[in-house]
Amino acid sequence: MQYLVAVRALCAFTAKHGDLDLRFTPAPSAQEGIAGHVLVASRRGGDYQTEVSLQGDYKELCVRGRADGYDPVQNQLEEVKTFRGDLHRMADNRRALHWAQVKIYGWLLCREKNLDDINLALVYLDIASLQETTLAEHFTASSLQAYFEAQCERFLAWARQELLHRETRDASLTALQFPHAGFRAGQHDLASAIYKASLAGQCLMAQAPTGIGKTIGTIFPLLKATPGRQLDKLFFLAAKTPGRALALDALARLRQGATALPLPLRVLELVAKTKACEHPDKACHGDACPLAKGFYDRLPQARSQAVSHAAAGGLLDKAALRALALSHKVCPYYLSQDLLNWSDVVVCDYNYYFDSSALLHGQTVANAWRVSVLVDEAHNLLERARKMYSATLSQAQLQDVHDTAPAAVRRALERLNLSFDSLQRQQTQAYQVYDELPAPLLKALQQTITTITDFLAANPTRMDAALQDFYFEALHFSRMADSFGEHSMLDLTLQHEPAGDARRDGWGDAGGATLCIRNVVPAPFLSPRLAAAQSVALFSATLSPRKFYTDTLGLPASAGWIDVQSPFMARQLRVEVVSDVSTRWQHRDDSLEPIAALMARQYAQAPGNYLTFLSSYDYLQKLAAFFRAHHPHIPMWEQTPRMDEAARDDFLARFTADGQGIGFAVLGGSFAEGIDLPGKRLIGAFIATLGLPQVNPVNEQIKARMAANFGGSRGYDYAYLYPGLQKVVQAAGRVIRTTSDEGVIYLIDDRFMRADIQALFPAWWQVRHHKARGTPQRRAAHPGPAQETFKSLDAP
Ligand code: SF4
Repeated sequence: MQYLVAVRALCAFTAKHGDLDLRFTPAPSAQEGIAGHVLVASRRGGDYQTEVSLQGDYKELCVRGRADGYDPVQNQLEEVKTFRGDLHRMADNRRALHWAQVKIYGWLLCREKNLDDINLALVYLDIASLQETTLAEHFTASSLQAYFEAQCERFLAWARQELLHRETRDASLTALQFPHAGFRAGQHDLASAIYKASLAGQCLMAQAPTGIGKTIGTIFPLLKATPGRQLDKLFFLAAKTPGRALALDALARLRQGATALPLPLRVLELVAKTKACEHPDKACHGDACPLAKGFYDRLPQARSQAVSHAAAGGLLDKAALRALALSHKVCPYYLSQDLLNWSDVVVCDYNYYFDSSALLHGQTVANAWRVSVLVDEAHNLLERARKMYSATLSQAQLQDVHDTAPAAVRRALERLNLSFDSLQRQQTQAYQVYDELPAPLLKALQQTITTITDFLAANPTRMDAALQDFYFEALHFSRMADSFGEHSMLDLTLQHEPAGDARRDGWGDAGGATLCIRNVVPAPFLSPRLAAAQSVALFSATLSPRKFYTDTLGLPASAGWIDVQSPFMARQLRVEVVSDVSTRWQHRDDSLEPIAALMARQYAQAPGNYLTFLSSYDYLQKLAAFFRAHHPHIPMWEQTPRMDEAARDDFLARFTADGQGIGFAVLGGSFAEGIDLPGKRLIGAFIATLGLPQVNPVNEQIKARMAANFGGSRGYDYAYLYPGLQKVVQAAGRVIRTTSDEGVIYLIDDRFMRADIQALFPAWWQVRHHKARGTPQRRAAHPGPAQETFKSLDAP
């Protein structure tokens, strides 16, 4: 068997030595890099060849890559590197890496063209001045061959064990058994659909209820499909930390249950740099951080131990990586990035694959990896992706940065501020949406970015967190402005300063403003990422309506769909629609008494643990205060804004199997999804809201943008109704977690009676009609034609 390795990867493995050095020097963007290569080529003669594909074998290795340029007249092979700042500051080990690459290309070209010797050149193009600095040397073919073979020899032992690993991994996956005695109801349907979609190279949406074991029911079939599809890696992408923990747990169980053959699966957990860093007060270079000093010298041992740890059955999760990294005195975060190359399964957050500069997606494309992607709790992807592709520029932040900025960049910040001032002076309302990007402001922004870039490049050791944060936001804004289109909207919000707040001289005469590019439909950004994988499965308990998610997430027309039947029986859950209470904003005060009475009545009938969901903290506090005053004997506890992890744990700890009381929470918050309170830990929920986003100028614009993208009739549904009902169903899903659970849900608002709203409920629910102020009545599952128009739902 042959092991295929790219020149860059080979050199990164064999020719990197010394310190990790990520001193903050703004690298040219990908576009600047491409433009730089084109510029250099345009300065060469007519015979100059670009992007020269080269390949050569050594024992089991097949080495290939593309050299940047070859001039046959001068017999000179060139490797072009764009840079910014002072070239003399480039670390020696980086320069050595560049020489290693060009020498490998040099031998491959000599071999192909039967050359006896060749000139090799590193061409450094300063992206600011467009000046070239060329370092050239003459080499004989025999010396380059010796160098090539030496590098290959250094990689060969690793490549052989990688080949062996792939062989044993695939044999084990072929023999892999499901780790439980049997599949749960619905779990086999889900697993089977995922397996078939993977074999067919298809994108699949899977709506599958809670409690059927979705995590293992998706990972297992994908692992089984891995050998047949010759997959390099499986990415499990989670919206939140608990999703990652469940995936790691499922993978650990799969390994323990692999009875036929041991499962030598390398499972890597990627966490954010802020969570993995051991020295958050230091910069990432050898002069500052001890774990960066000599990083590449110690990396091979750490890497070897990591794969041994995995071969022995260990997961490479955050804790294991930390222990391993510290034992070798290397940075855990950058160790995990190296191990990404050698891992079979990567468990991480969505943003590692979906955001605008996502590591996993970038590496997949660069290395032509064959990957399959699982998207856990995929109903979250819309909101998360919108955030990834939105950008904000705030005048308040600009002013704060200006206060502490070095003199070299102040003038640029002031010019940008003036552009802001002029923009907001033209605006007569507090909030306004614009069809076009403001050209003068964007020009000032570009100048500011260039000025800060040059300053940071000239001062790479300077730590200025505020300036760097602003710089990254400005860059992101500029990138989002470049790709602005129908999928996003642009708005300016004015925040007038309170009277008497003295302005700084020369710093504008108007109040602060915030310019925002809001992504509404992330489909155009997500679809290339979905297409880069061999197969993608998006799964969740709430992915209805299918078309809403297909449209907004950019799923291909060929995407499959499965709606897994719930294992739960209607008799397990009493769903009461309370039709004589309105939770509309103007009726909220009137609603407190009947809702509190209803809750107290239910609690008296069946004491135990309940959750009550409201639309806002304001409503929550009003209802909680009323409830406490009128039913002081019933234990209760409340969610509060910005609860930390300990406070959230305390809130959940009240839900014990023999506990009693009512927790008050906001819909769409931390306790409305992703929490598991089986059995008596939760026996009921009161949901006093439809979860509709607030009617405000921003959401009205989102509605208009949805209508423009998907047709007028869909504007309201896509902006308000579907996101709201999705939250309601998620919150209701906290009550029944296993086939032995029993409970009750009260859906409190007359609008829940509407047929079009009940059509969005899970199919297994049987809805009853309940009067909070009168005697409960039974009624059929669907109440008949809607009594209201959509317009009335718009009312706040
Ligand atoms: S430990 Fe922290 S400061 Fe040191 S190299 Fe790693 S991420 Fe950078």
